[in-house]
Amino acid sequence: MTATLLNGKQIAQEIRAEIAEQVRRRVQAGKSQPKLCAILVGDDPASQVYVRNKERACEKAGIAGTVDRLPATTTGTELLARIEQLNHDPTVHGILVQLPLPKSESSADPLDERRVLDAVSPLKDVDAFSPVNVGLLMQGRPRFLPCTPHGVVQLLHRCDRGVAGKHVVVIGRSDIVGKPIASMLSQRTNMANQGDAEGGRDVANATVTIAHSRTENLADLVRQADCVIAAVGIPKLVTADMIRPGATVVDVGINRVDDKLVGDVDFEGVKEVAGAITPVPGGVGPLTIAMLLHNTVKAAELADG
Ligand code: NAD
Repeated sequence: MTATLLNGKQIAQEIRAEIAEQVRRRVQAGKSQPKLCAILVGDDPASQVYVRNKERACEKAGIAGTVDRLPATTTGTELLARIEQLNHDPTVHGILVQLPLPKSESSADPLDERRVLDAVSPLKDVDAFSPVNVGLLMQGRPRFLPCTPHGVVQLLHRCDRGVAGKHVVVIGRSDIVGKPIASMLSQRTNMANQGDAEGGRDVANATVTIAHSRTENLADLVRQADCVIAAVGIPKLVTADMIRPGATVVDVGINRVDDKLVGDVDFEGVKEVAGAITPVPGGVGPLTIAMLLHNTVKAAELADG
């Protein structure tokens, strides 16, 4: 293997330890304990695991984590009413609606994902999905950063894989991964370093190309990249022949193949060509939860006024 392994698991542990210390200091100073409320509708097994992992991560960081478990028969009106209650509950700092929502049983009053996410107060929107928070990010003055994209930026930042002036190809244009990563890396200021005026600008100022399902000659495009970020959901889409020698390769994809988790990158082949690469699992995945904890503490700070 020639590529350096970008160990997301280890970096996530570092970040979680920093957050736990931040929470400890905050509570010691007499401020409120940060609290995250997750809403889980229905009984999708994968969602149950995700929510449990978030609950455990909160607990380890000293954050209060609660889960509202609602039946799959919940109507749109009922869910919106619950969100509204939490929006007004001063003890709750962060609200997270676990996706996907179940297919509505009530056609007259369905669970509309967009309406539900839009209903979360932008000041408690720790997933950063609300239009207000998306807009603030686009304008380069983010309140909350979306968790997986922020995890990618932290990984590059902390592994010293700067992208300023470099060509980054982001494969995938989803609202939760591809688009925000592209936005963050092309900003003028380093989003991994908010509030730190002395901080480097190494994970900003990239020249970013977004590739997607309609992109022609994907391989030719990716070969021009100094840094490739794959967020597609197709196992082994990115192969060694597509990688410029020495390039940084970040694999956001999580795909289940024969009961094993694999990314979008053919890890075995690409690690022989790339300069640095994230594994799956143990790459970007663990950072997503770490950045959710970060946002929950930030929400508590915003509530401090
Ligand atoms: P999505 O399905 O919303 O978007 C996939 C994107 O890939 C689309 O924009 C589409 O245009 C593009 N695409 C599809 N086929 C393509 C092709 N042949 N060539 C180029 N682009 C193509 O998915 P998403 O929510 O953005 O997630 C992407 C992947 O990242 C999935 O595997 C998902 O499981 C994973 N994911 C991981 C984390 C994490 O914590 N690590 C978080 C979210 C998503």
